[in-house]
Amino acid sequence: MSYYKAETVREAASGNWLFIVSALAPHAEEALKRPGKHVACPIHGGKDGFRVFKKDFLETGGGYCNTCGPRHDGFELLMWLNNWSFKETLAAVGEFLGVEKQLTWKEKKQQQNNARPQQRQRQVACAGGGAAQESVIPIPATPHVQPEPEPVQDGAASEDSKVIPLLMQKSKPWLMELQEEMERRAERQRKYSARLHEKITQIWEKECLPLSSECNEPVRAYFQNRGLVFRWNRIEESDSLRVHPALSYFDEDGNEVGKFPALVCAIRDKAGQVITLHRIYLTQTGKKARVPEPKKMMPVPDDLKVTGGAIRLGEPKSGIIGVAEGVETALSAFKATQIPTWATVSATLMEAFEVPEGVHTVLIWADKDKSLTGQTSAHALEARLKQEGIKATVITPKLPIPKNGKGVDWNDVLISQGTEGFPTAQRIYASLFGGYAYARA
Ligand SMILES: [Zn+2]
Repeated sequence: MSYYKAETVREAASGNWLFIVSALAPHAEEALKRPGKHVACPIHGGKDGFRVFKKDFLETGGGYCNTCGPRHDGFELLMWLNNWSFKETLAAVGEFLGVEKQLTWKEKKQQQNNARPQQRQRQVACAGGGAAQESVIPIPATPHVQPEPEPVQDGAASEDSKVIPLLMQKSKPWLMELQEEMERRAERQRKYSARLHEKITQIWEKECLPLSSECNEPVRAYFQNRGLVFRWNRIEESDSLRVHPALSYFDEDGNEVGKFPALVCAIRDKAGQVITLHRIYLTQTGKKARVPEPKKMMPVPDDLKVTGGAIRLGEPKSGIIGVAEGVETALSAFKATQIPTWATVSATLMEAFEVPEGVHTVLIWADKDKSLTGQTSAHALEARLKQEGIKATVITPKLPIPKNGKGVDWNDVLISQGTEGFPTAQRIYASLFGGYAYARA
């Protein structure tokens, strides 16, 4: 029995999901006609419980049901919409696109036995709405090539797939229009993403200077105002903090408001690659700059993922690392414990934090928010790490939240109480290993 190879069908489907889902799941058409907009869920009904991804639906075929969560790609989406198994979905999509089936080992062997050595040409056609490519690759004669007239091409889509857009155009004119519009949008997105990569590299590699440079005065003053005075050599080991002498600040409409000195922080993924930059805009005297959002993260290029990443402040040496939301909070914990503590920038990213190789213990320095956001994320991270077999404990400030404040964090503790406001190493170890284990250690 020949079969469809998932990888091949997926490749052929990329860029064609609008046609595919429209044909195989007509009940999702309302969502297809308005990508990114919330519409009645094809499964649950209602008013606005479902949407297909605006940015990359053509390529991925994914969507989101408010009740069931994300369907990451078109296969998941069709399985869910049609109550199909993966195999059924693969076959339906493969057939729709005219993807060539794969031969089983037995069938191949059979063909080889029948084969006579001869020169032949192989055509490779890619399924892609109108953008199909053809190349002719002469294959040298070998005794193992199957014969004409019907060469079976491992994994290549047939010419039939080009017919799809034409058929579609006749039956559903709106579909072609939408396809073109979405292709244009995807192209704009690709260009934007490429520019973003350049921008990030430009700022980080060419415009920023090390903390030890002379123009670092605003950053030094900012840290001093936050009670963060220490030797930076251990922090600088992981090269995640740099200073920008005059970084442009843009408002929401993209207009440049002015240039400010800034602390620029690299958010790196688990492998250490720079994903994007976090910026803290400052005045010359080390206050936060008077702009609507003095702390801003740059967008994340399409092909990268910021989840799991962090601003690395020092390298963990003995398998223990701390993690906190803000850079200031993380540095406060470092000052108090001398344990390298990384910053995840936000509560969302804290929840998703991925522990670097070789780390067995994580101290989670929670923000104490009135809204409980910080604590909730800290405990969610703790629970996940424990499941992964990593020792973890959440440490929350005892300091009360001021009446008019949104919350307190460990930098507030450092400023008001100094390092004495932090739990002792003994207390931390006790909460990680239990009192008995600590006594034994
Ligand atoms: Zn739903």
